[in-house]
Amino acid sequence: MAMEERKAGRDPDVLRPRDAVEACRLKAAYGADGVFVAGGTLLRTQWESGAAAMPGRLIDLTAIPGFDAIREDDGGLVIGPLVKLSELTRAEPVASGYPLLAEAARRIGAPSIRNLATIGGNVACRIGDALPALLVYGAELVWRTIERNGVALPLEDWLADPGSEDGVRLLAGIRLRPAEAQESAGRLVGAFRKLGRREAFIPSLVTVAVLGRLAEDGTLRGVRIAAGGGSAVPARLRGAEAALEGARVGPDTLVRLTEAVLGEYRPASDAFAGADYRRMAAANLIAAEWLRLAGAGREEGR
Ligand SMILES: Cc1cc2nc3c(=O)[nH]c(=O)nc-3n(C[C@H](O)[C@H](O)[C@H](O)COP(=O)(O)OP(=O)(O)OC[C@H]3O[C@@H](n4cnc5c(N)ncnc54)[C@H](O)[C@@H]3O)c2cc1C
Repeated sequence: MAMEERKAGRDPDVLRPRDAVEACRLKAAYGADGVFVAGGTLLRTQWESGAAAMPGRLIDLTAIPGFDAIREDDGGLVIGPLVKLSELTRAEPVASGYPLLAEAARRIGAPSIRNLATIGGNVACRIGDALPALLVYGAELVWRTIERNGVALPLEDWLADPGSEDGVRLLAGIRLRPAEAQESAGRLVGAFRKLGRREAFIPSLVTVAVLGRLAEDGTLRGVRIAAGGGSAVPARLRGAEAALEGARVGPDTLVRLTEAVLGEYRPASDAFAGADYRRMAAANLIAAEWLRLAGAGREEGR
């Protein structure tokens, strides 16, 4: 279909592939004029704002069997890309094993959005607020191509480098290894924080997730920290993780942590907040959660 016809008011064709291979083939056939649609909540904002043109074909993923399921896998979970954010907020295996993901989903949009929006769409857009939580759990993405079923790649690697735009890749699942299997002893503790310009139903300025094991001496071990928010592609903050690994609560650690976050977190400025503000906010959010998790009041060296 020519773009001119649609500009003249013609609605796009809606295609409903019955399986993942058919979806990939349709995308390969139509290229930029065919777009995968899950909940459509993000795409709709892009079409309405003019950030993206309405394509000629919507490749509706909702009829693909198993895409809307959460299944247990080798002690962990595989979350289908069509699982709604509202489902993630209440699914027992998510709440019990991966509570930061449930909390991140709860903080996205409003109930009406969460009832349509999917985790696959949140991940595929590369800036979704669920991503920092998935990063600290070491999530892998299972990709489907026309030729290959289920190529699993670390989410962290894909965020750092999505690879060539050539070739069709459909997100077919999000794999979470058992959180309890993570190395080092101690109770698993963590936090997800989203900062916006008001408390709820607001785009994020900064999102952070912190995960670790609380050792008997009150320090955190196996620390994992990720940050995103706004148009920033989320990433692990390795320097911040090193600053908190086994560290006692105290001013020296807070200085090291703040310097690490300011040096490695790369947000963008926009009309609502500058990059410097976001960097400082991320450092403060991580510090506040670390103090809460590791136990405020324990002085360094005591
Ligand atoms: C009012 C409002 C508030 C919002 N608030 C937030 C918020 O607080 N935080 C936040 O993160 N987002 C927010 N969003 C954006 C959006 O709702 C979420 O990111 C949502 O999770 C996107 O999921 P979706 O199923 O609607 O994706 P869609 O809009 O269907 O798709 C999004 C993108 O992902 C691609 N895609 C979808 N599924 C796949 C797949 N399986 N394989 C490959 N590509 C795929 C699509 O082609 C498209 O490029 C908001 C949106 C609205 C309208």
